Amino acid sequence: MRVLVVGGAGYIGSHVCRALAARGDEPIVFDNFCSGHRHAVKWGELVEGDIRNPADIARALSVHSPDAVMHFAANIEVGSGETQPLDFWDNNVGGVINLLKEMQAANCRTLVFSSTCATYGIPETVPMTEDEPQAPINVYGRTKLAVETMLSDLARCGHIDYAALRYFNACGASPDGDIGEEHDPETHLIPNALKAAAGLGGKMKLFGTDYPTRDGTCIRDYIHVVDLADVHLRALDHLIAGRGSFACNVGTGDGFTVREVLDAIARVTGRPVPFEEHPRRAGDPPVLSANTARAKSLLGFEPQHSSIDEIVADAWRFHQKVWAAELAELANQEQMEIA
Ligand code: UDP
Repeated sequence: MRVLVVGGAGYIGSHVCRALAARGDEPIVFDNFCSGHRHAVKWGELVEGDIRNPADIARALSVHSPDAVMHFAANIEVGSGETQPLDFWDNNVGGVINLLKEMQAANCRTLVFSSTCATYGIPETVPMTEDEPQAPINVYGRTKLAVETMLSDLARCGHIDYAALRYFNACGASPDGDIGEEHDPETHLIPNALKAAAGLGGKMKLFGTDYPTRDGTCIRDYIHVVDLADVHLRALDHLIAGRGSFACNVGTGDGFTVREVLDAIARVTGRPVPFEEHPRRAGDPPVLSANTARAKSLLGFEPQHSSIDEIVADAWRFHQKVWAAELAELANQEQMEIA
């Protein structure tokens, strides 16, 4: 199968390209490199373009005639959505409208879409099923929900087949340390905590210690990016087999507090995470975890790599590579101080 991977140079998109290529499918990366990385384009051809420019999408579709599209290219940093809402609506919704129009013109009707548990907002019940009311509390979640609504309308009219995968907390890296999480600015817990553990960048800020959870810090459902990539392949196969459009949670069903993640990092890396406690970060729900029954029954998906220790070990291996120069310099300084 030939699959146009929109945002294929990004964190999750590049792992999906890797997984597609590993089973003999042909990914074609479409990316504007606003946050993706050229060094993450290792599988399949590259089309450099922007979803806000319909001609770029038309070119990619006409040159490569893909069997399906997977869409990852989106503004994801929740805080920026609150200050730059129009950018989010333009890229996350306007960009998808362009993509869908060009797909229709090219007679390509299969789309796997990156959605998010942020479409639920603050859940009434955890673990959350897909029937949890979708009431997002930020611009990011609202743009993703808008696309889900649009996709469901198009599917109902028989124009497309789609999967909306509602990710929980994507993390980890490829086990060979080749590709991983590299956001700028980095806002996610595990890379920030690893950086602090490595002695780079000072203490990690721990946001919120007064949540109604077992140790006062937020609980999240952390899923390894390799497992996440596997779900995309399963979703694609489901759609291509004509088994119908769907939305589904992608998580593990387990939840860890921030303090438990920090403990795992200390255990796996042998380095405690220096941190300081801060007030709650705006918009963080206390607990998010997935009811995973639908992913299992519909796609046969069960996470294989998402133990917290495996997640941390893979992320640590990757980041040690990325930070090799800084770590070497730090080791030098320590040597000099000892001498
Ligand atoms: N968090 C933290 N310090 C950081 C980054 C995150 O304490 O530097 C907390 C955050 O408040 C939340 C959890 O870690 O409770 C997971 O946050 P992350 O940004 O990784 O994912 P989110 O669930 O917001 O998508």
